[in-house]
Amino acid sequence: MDYLPIFLRVQDRLAVVIGGGAVAARKAELLLNCGARVRLVAPELDASAQALLQLHGAAGRMSHQCASYASHHLEGAALVMAATDCAAVNTQVSREARARGIPVNVADDAATSDFILPAIVDRSPLIVAVSSSGTTPVLARRVREQIESLLPARLGALARFAGSQREQVNRVLQPRLRRPFWERFFGAASNLEKLAQDESGARRAFSAELQHFATRKDGIPLGEVYLIGAGPGDPDLLTLRALQLLQQADVLLYDRLVSPTILERARREATRIFVGKDVGDSTLAQDRINDMLITHARRGLKVARLKGGDPLVFGRGGEEIAAVVRHGIPVTVVPGITAALGAAASAQIPLTLREVSQSVTFAPGHVAMADTLDWPALARSGHTVVFYMAMAQLSGLTERLRKAGAPADRPVALIAQATLPTQRVVHGTLADIAETARTGGFGAPALLFVGEVTRVVQQQALASLEPCLEGVA
Ligand code: SAH
Repeated sequence: MDYLPIFLRVQDRLAVVIGGGAVAARKAELLLNCGARVRLVAPELDASAQALLQLHGAAGRMSHQCASYASHHLEGAALVMAATDCAAVNTQVSREARARGIPVNVADDAATSDFILPAIVDRSPLIVAVSSSGTTPVLARRVREQIESLLPARLGALARFAGSQREQVNRVLQPRLRRPFWERFFGAASNLEKLAQDESGARRAFSAELQHFATRKDGIPLGEVYLIGAGPGDPDLLTLRALQLLQQADVLLYDRLVSPTILERARREATRIFVGKDVGDSTLAQDRINDMLITHARRGLKVARLKGGDPLVFGRGGEEIAAVVRHGIPVTVVPGITAALGAAASAQIPLTLREVSQSVTFAPGHVAMADTLDWPALARSGHTVVFYMAMAQLSGLTERLRKAGAPADRPVALIAQATLPTQRVVHGTLADIAETARTGGFGAPALLFVGEVTRVVQQQALASLEPCLEGVA
């Protein structure tokens, strides 16, 4: 690291800002917001600097030295910022401040600065500062925006509330229980966002949790389980809540379908455990997974169970919820974008379309479940069917649809690795798709879309190509 990140207390200390334009005014405003007194040095002030002076001058928080910069203006300063539009003046300020041992910042010039200003997410008293060490401020601002969208807007109020209760917690709880208490309060199933939005709810949760901790004999708080949908693969399709909870989890249990780029978004210190199932051993594996969820939560840990797509669509999420709840462990379920929705979006296939398809069914293509399906209903026209787990028995699937009355030329699309850089889409009909997939080396995970909607997209794509093709001819 080229810089030491610190938070500097400037309350009632004098900060000198050299310059009278918009940049100087912005810096002065930041300093005033942090409680500093500001001396602005400039022969003239623009409108924004004047407005600021009017606002803070009367209270004695801000003064203006109407003059060109001279070394004596730095007298008594704890901090100096140079923000004139003249590089020579800025360099002189930097040199003279350094000679006096006063930390200096020069706008847009890291080389002559002792400190640089980070991009800030302000949820005072909680502050997040992001810096690119002066190399690419735009990237730092991008990161800042991402953090901004992750943190609930009212987090500051929650932090103030927690701060005001600290003494009480220290009085009531033994030291070894304090951290688990706060961890549990902030990470309660209701999670940060809800706590931050609902102040009286937060107070109630606080009192209940404190009571609970103070009366627990074993002193071991109960953990919790987050059942999180990780979406179809592209990490940008995670929900904000999934990201928030991934940042809180102590342990991650994940499937084969959860991509490594998604695991990277979790807290670095979290323990990662792969629980992908081997085909044929799934019942046993499921029991073992349920046991792991319970064992970890009972140790007081926050356990994130990450599943591809949505946890409640062909994900056995229902069984895991039941197992965990039976042991009195709280569960939060976070929906994910199920594979069919992810694939439809990236291949631009509408699932319903006026006058073409009025309803959609998600069905398992797995042979073990095939006998329980209503094949004549799935074979109807005016309807879209998306088969999950489509690869294992692709030709069996298409045959059953045809036997149940679907025409051989019913259009279909096979989509593998949807939303990932390796995504593949192939169009065809019930009659030829299995052969196309076999010769094309198509692999799982893949979905089979069945219905006229798949042809509509293909026709639109061809229509848009036509003018170009005519040009070629
Ligand atoms: N809970 C998951 C489904 C799990 S079943 C969800 O909601 O998406 C596993 C099946 O999901 C796979 O056999 C495949 O049919 C489908 N699948 C999951 N991710 C996929 C992807 N990125 N592309 C295509 N199909 C996918």
